[in-house]
Amino acid sequence: MKILVMNSGSSSLKFQLFNLPDLTVSASGLIEQMGDEQSSARLIYFDSAGTQQTLKQTVPVAEHRQAIIIMADLLRESGTMNDIQELAGIGHRVVHGGEAFHEPVLIDDRVISAIEELIPLAPLHNPANLTGIRVALEQAGTVPQVAVFDTAFHQSIPEHGYLYALPYKLYQEQKVRRYGFHGTSHDYVSKQAAQFIGQPITELNIISVHLGNGTSAAAIRGGKCIDTSMGLTPLEGLIMGTRSGDLDPAILFYLARETDMDMDDLDGMLNKESGLKGICGENDMRTITELAGQGDRLARLALTMFCYRLKKYIGAYMAALGGVDCIVFTGGIGENSAIVRQMSCQGLERLGISLDKEKNTKQRNAISEIQATDSIVKILVVPTDEELEIATQTLRVITER
Ligand code: ADP
Repeated sequence: MKILVMNSGSSSLKFQLFNLPDLTVSASGLIEQMGDEQSSARLIYFDSAGTQQTLKQTVPVAEHRQAIIIMADLLRESGTMNDIQELAGIGHRVVHGGEAFHEPVLIDDRVISAIEELIPLAPLHNPANLTGIRVALEQAGTVPQVAVFDTAFHQSIPEHGYLYALPYKLYQEQKVRRYGFHGTSHDYVSKQAAQFIGQPITELNIISVHLGNGTSAAAIRGGKCIDTSMGLTPLEGLIMGTRSGDLDPAILFYLARETDMDMDDLDGMLNKESGLKGICGENDMRTITELAGQGDRLARLALTMFCYRLKKYIGAYMAALGGVDCIVFTGGIGENSAIVRQMSCQGLERLGISLDKEKNTKQRNAISEIQATDSIVKILVVPTDEELEIATQTLRVITER
């Protein structure tokens, strides 16, 4: 039997198939640019000899229904899975679970309605996630399906941490509060870190920093999140590829009054034209590091700003937690950029945070520790695996059913 994990985006479907009982990866695939002539579908799987193979197609894929059929065809063609009945469960990534979901749940009509009601809070993501769920239910109605929410891990944040200092009725009536995202990743890497250190997670204070195209930090006490940097939306907090992160909200009123930018322009600017891209014109950290190395002033500035903001959050979360045992770096940048890790920990030696230069720059593809021998705080690089965490949680929900 197998578990299928689906991540349905607005124009893409990412999926991964896991073998039971050990949750080894059987195949993974991506269908992208749906709705475009150039749509492509790719499957990576192991053939009967155990050799990794890739199956690629360029076919116009109009929408999710067709994408799911193509996914099933690819799995069948490659001999990875012949029949839907081989599935013990399907796990769906759902971006926004609001206050309704503190943990993964078995999908039924009530859950679908609740995800639908949350669309105003995640207008780009929840509709796509829902479409994926609906089509999967149509195609594989007998297979139990589970929703795993990006926000659920952060539901343990106390009231004083999740509320904004706005009129309280905005929380009561509009549900304006901090929700946080990347929860599945923070949950996964913090558990991995505790296991690596060999201490129960219930005894550890961990700061987890997920640095991908989107970036966020989480303060985790005893395995429970007590604060996180993303807010009502993924725009708040750290500097990101194209998102500003924290800023003075009055900048927006000022720009609305002084320029001809309207609300959509401001929204687009903050989400798509700001962050690293806003400062230096590039949003890919590899390019930025390369340009900075060649002496490009704005690339250097973007890199410095990115790491400075991160350093401030590490300091803030040390205070919130009352001390930290372990800092975890994850996500494309967190796992691969030695310079970002070095610059964001630099100068924190008096707080017990000290990196080992050699360990930090060594190539790795597994969990590893990079702190100096005299560092009080452990510093770990942990490859994230949101799909595996979704598969694990899906398996737990269907087993407990
Ligand atoms: P997403 O958030 O879309 O899942 P990823 O977690 O894959 O994205 O992270 C993408 C970011 O990771 C990009 O900014 C990319 O430049 C960066 N990245 C990937 N590999 C490296 C590397 N070797 N050095 C520096 N940055 C890297």
